[in-house]
Amino acid sequence: MKTNKWMSSLLAIIASAGAFGALNAAEHASVGYTDTPMLPDGKWHVHDPNRPQPTVVAPGTFSTATTPGKPPSDAIVLFDGKDLSKWRTADGKPAPWNVHDGAIVCNPKTGDIFTKEEFGDIQLHLEFATPTPPKGESQERGNSGVFFFGRYELQVLDSYQNRTYADGSCASVYGQYPPLVNASRPPGEWQTYDVVFISPRFKDAKLETPASITVFHNGVLVQNHSEILGASGHKILAKYAAHGAKGPIKLQDHGNTTRYRNIWVRPLDSTHD
Ligand code: MG
Repeated sequence: MKTNKWMSSLLAIIASAGAFGALNAAEHASVGYTDTPMLPDGKWHVHDPNRPQPTVVAPGTFSTATTPGKPPSDAIVLFDGKDLSKWRTADGKPAPWNVHDGAIVCNPKTGDIFTKEEFGDIQLHLEFATPTPPKGESQERGNSGVFFFGRYELQVLDSYQNRTYADGSCASVYGQYPPLVNASRPPGEWQTYDVVFISPRFKDAKLETPASITVFHNGVLVQNHSEILGASGHKILAKYAAHGAKGPIKLQDHGNTTRYRNIWVRPLDSTHD
C-alpha cells in the first residue's frame, strides 16, 4: 500500500514535469507564417511568427456601488483610498483636500490639486461622486473637472436633471464638445470615467497635431476621439500654447465637495512592435 502511494506520487511528479515542459515548449513554439504578404510598415509578415508577444498584464476588477475595483497590474495608482501623497498644490505644497471614507473630498476654496508625476499619452480611470443633496443650479451644482496637462478640461458636473449649456455639462470637453449622450448618475452615486488622452504635438513652438480625447462615462461612449481645440476656459475660444511632452493631471476646486476614488493611469506607447 505504501509503495503504491509512493509510486503514484512519483508518477504524478513525472507527469506534471512533462506537462510543464510541454507548456514551456508551447510558449516558445514557432507559430505563424512567413509565406504571407508583408504589412505596410515593411517589418512584419501577416501572422509573422517572430513578431514580439504582447506584454502580459493582469487585468483589474470593476468597482461596485460601495467598493472600488482593483487597477490592472501595470497601472500607476494615483489614489487608492488612503492618502494624497501623489498630489500637490499649484505651487508644490501638500494637497489640502480631505480624505474621508476612502475618497478624496474637494476642500472648497483651497485651490486645485495636481499630480506630482507628469504624463503624456495616457489611459486614465477615475471615479467621482457629486454632492448629495444637490445644491445650486447649472454650473454651480457639483462642479469640478479633470484637466490633462493642467489645462484641457474634461468637465465633472452634476448633470442629473440639471440643465446647463451643453458644452459645459458633465463629460463635456469644457467649452468645446458636449458629451454624445448624458450618462450621468444621480448625485452621491459613484460614476466612472475611462479616458484615452493623446497629447498634442508641437514643433518649433507651433501646433503639429492637436490633442484628442476618448471618454467612456459609466461605460457609455461620450467623447469619440474628439480633437481638442486648445486650453479650456470660460467664455473664450480655446487656443493652444506650446508646452512640453508631459504635464500633470489637475482636479478642479470649483467650490463644491465633489468626491473622487480609484484613480489610476497607464502611460501609453502608441507604437506597435
Ligand atoms: Mg469644471
